[in-house]
Amino acid sequence: MNYENHFAKSLAKLKAEGNYRQFTDIERIAGKFPLARDHKSGRDIILWCSNDYLGMGQHPKVVTAMVDAAQKMGAGAGGTRNISGTNHPLVLLERELADLHDKESALVFTSGYVANETTLATLGALLPNAVIFSDQMNHASMIEGIRKSKAEKHIFRHNDVAHLEELLRQVDINRPKIIAFESVYSMDGDIAPIKEIWDLADKYNAMTYLDEVHAVGLYGNKGGGISDRENLSHRVTVIQGTLAKGFGVIGGYIAASAGLVDAIRSFAPGFIFSTALPPAIAAAALASVRHLKTSNSEREKHQENVAKLKKMLIAANIPIIDTESHIIPVLIGDPHSSREASLRLLEEYDIFVQHINYPTVPKGKERLRITPTPLHTNEMMEQMTQALSHVLSQLTIKAAA
Ligand SMILES: *Cc1c(COP(=O)(O)O)cnc(C)c1O
Repeated sequence: MNYENHFAKSLAKLKAEGNYRQFTDIERIAGKFPLARDHKSGRDIILWCSNDYLGMGQHPKVVTAMVDAAQKMGAGAGGTRNISGTNHPLVLLERELADLHDKESALVFTSGYVANETTLATLGALLPNAVIFSDQMNHASMIEGIRKSKAEKHIFRHNDVAHLEELLRQVDINRPKIIAFESVYSMDGDIAPIKEIWDLADKYNAMTYLDEVHAVGLYGNKGGGISDRENLSHRVTVIQGTLAKGFGVIGGYIAASAGLVDAIRSFAPGFIFSTALPPAIAAAALASVRHLKTSNSEREKHQENVAKLKKMLIAANIPIIDTESHIIPVLIGDPHSSREASLRLLEEYDIFVQHINYPTVPKGKERLRITPTPLHTNEMMEQMTQALSHVLSQLTIKAAA
């Protein structure tokens, strides 16, 4: 076999479909977010697609905590958690996260992806004869974990509680069951009917596993996510989150009972066999979580800006999906057009909103995904609305011609 030929052929196919990914090389500027430098053009651009939802990545408390810890403790963790990698900031971070979600215990992983994959794989394998019920729109990291667990899997239609019940009813009540879902879905921005799902979990004696990645830091009185906002944290068995989005740093975690966390700590390969997060990272994440636990101003301004921008976009007839979350998807529905829209926004308006194509969204659901932060100004929002109007009208003309 000619290996190189094979790679080239696979990539050519991706390019023809419009799904080949070209990364935009940027330099973030601490203190100026959402501004960044486009490395290629050398121009300042405005980020409109960052998952640093609250700008915590540049927060002085967070940056200072990182620098201080690096100066005191050095750059790396120096080992897996078991073999000298458990630095004290990580221990403090896990305590803080347990408290954030009103759970007995928490466990930190190198990313949210790893947290999902290794926790679900381990839970599904550890519980004898387990069945996992998985929302159709679940993130790739959950899907991978469930697959690796080799447990029996049933997929319920997205946010469809009646369908979930239909599937639950068909399984022996005595078998261990896990219902895995997200609170805020990252691509459509819709929110799961969490209370109804927990009612079903009680009725059918199931555990629940909730990915709050797009909600932690952003929702709830102390930033514990949708379960915190609804005062329902106690009803979810496992809350999973990230330190990389709302909290602005890197890393993932779960929060649950002491026994469950101890089991994952003891049996999950993705936790055991990987070097611990560096102390500077843990210290920065800790500063971010602590800050957002008591400060509501970022969350309030965030919601205010989201509402404002949605209103502007709707008034300008931009085809957004209007949901109750902070994510504003603009449906384009074609991979080439979404790419074109994104390119034009960058080149003509210095606006960076990455187009989202397959496999992140299904084919035909290509989109621009806009994420306003508390740091976007009115002027930026007005400019964004005008630019988007203009670029989209040109695309329509092109499609009609
Ligand atoms: C981004 C994401 C993850 C992974 O989190 P990372 O910390 O970025 O690895 C997990 N679940 C969902 C829904 C996500 O969007």
